[in-house]
Amino acid sequence: MKTDSATGLIEVFSSLQGEGLFLGYRQIFVRFPGCNLACSYCDTPLAMPEQCRVETEPGSGQFRLIPQPVPFSTLYDLAASWCVDLPDAHHSFSITGGEPLLHAGVLAVWLPRLREILPIYLETNGTLPDALSPLLHLLDYICMDIKLPSVAGTGDLWEEHRRFLELARETEVSVKMIVGPQTTDQELLMACDLVSDVDPEIPLVLQPQTGRDGTVTVAAVQLLHWQSLAARLLADVRVIPQTHRFMGVL
Ligand code: SF4
Repeated sequence: MKTDSATGLIEVFSSLQGEGLFLGYRQIFVRFPGCNLACSYCDTPLAMPEQCRVETEPGSGQFRLIPQPVPFSTLYDLAASWCVDLPDAHHSFSITGGEPLLHAGVLAVWLPRLREILPIYLETNGTLPDALSPLLHLLDYICMDIKLPSVAGTGDLWEEHRRFLELARETEVSVKMIVGPQTTDQELLMACDLVSDVDPEIPLVLQPQTGRDGTVTVAAVQLLHWQSLAARLLADVRVIPQTHRFMGVL
């Protein structure tokens, strides 16, 4: 595949990171379609649209539609022009989905060129270690999920997560766990044990599940309890809710 290749994308826009360790950093988001999981709380559009929506001006929230598949040169020129118009405003590209590692072949070709513009931050569900492996040298930051079966309804993914994290630690990696009213202490400790076994210095973000109206579904006292449990095993544990909805950003 060449860098003049084209692929289907859902959307490209400039906004603030709304969750995880990099909350508040401005990024250029490139959203890929499709996912290998079906989490019970997923509210992300996953299907490939007939046209890709691209922000007309960075941060405007106004979009135009462009034909699929999107040529690499279109994405590159757009991102480069936004970085000229708004020098130093963006921290990184957020390569997101869906599950972007389903497009590992495209990423292998596109990321070296995109990285000329901005560092690369990968948002991933942390279940495709074989797809991650050949891309590691192209990634600056990884935010990986650990899916708690009680909340995500995905079944047991511990082994996939362990293999993924062992690879991802070669970059600047952080772990995000969505916790909900169903989460048990035992399940949380299993996940923290997994992270600690790989490296207890890896930052962990506990993200309380957010309802459709933007309200947090877990009481503060419960979140503080889980934070104290996780902190026995890990050096850097934070509780950060999703902020997109109440901030009114994309
Ligand atoms: S991993 Fe993310 S994109 Fe995929 S189904 Fe779960 S929440 Fe949705």
